[in-house]
Amino acid sequence: MSVRAPDFAAAGTEPAWTIADSTELYLTGSWGAQFFFVNENGHVAVNVMNEAATTMDVVAIVEELRRRGVQFPILLRFQDVLRARVRRLNEAFHKAIEDAGYRNDYRAVYPIKVNQLHEVVDELLDAGKPYGMGLECGSKAELIAALPQLDDDTLLVCNGVKDKSMLSLIISGQRLGRNAIPVIENHAEFVDLKELAFKAGFVPRLGVRVRLSTPGSGRWSESSGENSKFGLSVAELLSLLRELEAGGLADRLLVLHCHIGSQIADIHVLKQAAREVTRIYAELVGRGAGVRYLDLGGGLGVNYDRGHLEEGAGINYSLQEYANAVVFTVQEICAAHGVAEPTIVTESGRALTAHHSALIVPVLGTRAKDDPALEYMVDEGASDPVQALHAVLAHLDSVETPGELLEAYHEGNERLGEVRSLFSLGYLDLEQRALAESLYWRLCSRLLAAFRSGPGASLPEVGELERQLTDLYLCDFSIFQSMLDHWAIGQPFPIMPIDRLDERPDRRGVLVDLTCDSDGRVSHYVSAHADNSFLPLHAPKPGEPYYLAFFLMGAYEDIVGDAHNLFGRVSEAHIYADPEEPDNFWIEKIIPGTAIQDMLAQVQYFPNDLHRRMSELVRAKIQEGVVRPTQGIAILDQYMACFPQNTYCNPRDMEQDAPA
Ligand SMILES: *Cc1c(COP(=O)(O)O)cnc(C)c1O
Repeated sequence: MSVRAPDFAAAGTEPAWTIADSTELYLTGSWGAQFFFVNENGHVAVNVMNEAATTMDVVAIVEELRRRGVQFPILLRFQDVLRARVRRLNEAFHKAIEDAGYRNDYRAVYPIKVNQLHEVVDELLDAGKPYGMGLECGSKAELIAALPQLDDDTLLVCNGVKDKSMLSLIISGQRLGRNAIPVIENHAEFVDLKELAFKAGFVPRLGVRVRLSTPGSGRWSESSGENSKFGLSVAELLSLLRELEAGGLADRLLVLHCHIGSQIADIHVLKQAAREVTRIYAELVGRGAGVRYLDLGGGLGVNYDRGHLEEGAGINYSLQEYANAVVFTVQEICAAHGVAEPTIVTESGRALTAHHSALIVPVLGTRAKDDPALEYMVDEGASDPVQALHAVLAHLDSVETPGELLEAYHEGNERLGEVRSLFSLGYLDLEQRALAESLYWRLCSRLLAAFRSGPGASLPEVGELERQLTDLYLCDFSIFQSMLDHWAIGQPFPIMPIDRLDERPDRRGVLVDLTCDSDGRVSHYVSAHADNSFLPLHAPKPGEPYYLAFFLMGAYEDIVGDAHNLFGRVSEAHIYADPEEPDNFWIEKIIPGTAIQDMLAQVQYFPNDLHRRMSELVRAKIQEGVVRPTQGIAILDQYMACFPQNTYCNPRDMEQDAPA
């Protein structure tokens, strides 16, 4: 991929910036999975139906939401994207099965822990109906949610640690005719299951999870391997099989399950695991077990950045390659052992949900070191090093060669250092220091432009200047609520402005959030730039909103966020494409974000009590004469008015007036 850095030349001397440049810079063509692109207006757009007639403009959606007075940040759910992902997954497997001449079928089951939101599960199941898609649950609560949703013949794979009440609910599900399969994770579960079923006078169907020796892959590698906390070892599996045989139940063991971790990076690891588990399957079948489903768990990866074409970046396979690898490997091992080919099951969660939602975050403000709005005056009275700095800046126009530019840069550094130590020693005042810093940053910014437009563009000092000159973009969101995996495990998420993509992004931004936590910043970015410690962005224009979109938020991030700094669930809007509607979309539903009082209630503060305390305080202050009665009451009202509000800030340009 040839990458043109966005800002390697001084303004005026470079070719105009195009939407193709933005696509390349933000790698939209890679992680966008054909859903997201830059349209001819320089806006982010969404194509959910694979046809130009139904593309939606994200700027138009945001404008419509603003007209309706919706609180930002807001999570946009593209329900059609969920449906498209279900289709792509199933069709990839069906193609692999057809190409290989595989003599059985494929069933996807959706692990609801990845995104339990009712609307998400419903949409996935509806889209998956033609493919017989089922569900996977990993807890009692998830089982309770899943049990009434499925048809009788679709799979409900019940993983996770199961207590007796969960096991007996699964048995009841089977008695009701549901295809709910308890996947035995340890021997104690089997003992409980046997006892409960015996009492109920019912012979249950079951599955078993095996611990593979193939080490896991990706960032969740502890889900597999000898030391995984899940599943039976091969020795335990054999002893379970003997118990089943003794009870005449071997033909009730229907599912063999394994899971080697999420976001599998390397297709070879997947093949190795598939080979191992199919070998186990073949032996079980040879011993008379009734295994019909071979469940390879989740882990189908998603491109968060450059994608599978580039070595060392993200996952090294496509959706179709994943399906081919699974189908061909299972087929090959079954043929070698002369056993019937099983129905292949996968529990892909991330791959179904990641793409469907994007978080829209307003930029509340920026802080640039070389802010041109900062005025300064250097007069006679300025100190010597300040005068010297000013002189370097003043002569910059006549400086041309990289050597001369370097000299100016070093001189600038030296003078600034001088000013700072003289300040520390008490010889210079704050005014002089402020003046020196303004001059220095102005100098750096002009030097950077000059280096880039000339032969010095590749000098190491250019990188140094870039890092020094990054701007802070204060964003109206919380990393801990909306991007927990970025903070916890360094997962990168693609981020880009939704607008002005036909304009050169000539600032280098670092995004910081609203939380008071120094970790509340995005630490690395998805872009074609070699240095991923910043994101090329535009300088926001005064009076104009500037929104960023955070993509691939639909898996895990939706639900794992905690209540850091008491930021709650963000508002969300459900968008459908429709060529009959103006701008090709309609908004089905807007769900407001969590109210402050609800977040507070989670940590045991309640409005009545807080109101009582606040009015006591106000009364005392009125009596002390600190505030006038009308003022005091207005403050109390203002305080109480916050309770039903959303936990996030309003962007400047949407701010409503505070109560008088
Ligand atoms: C988490 C989990 C999944 C989902 O994995 P993805 O990587 O999201 O596809 C599937 N199966 C089990 C058992 C899991 O724990």
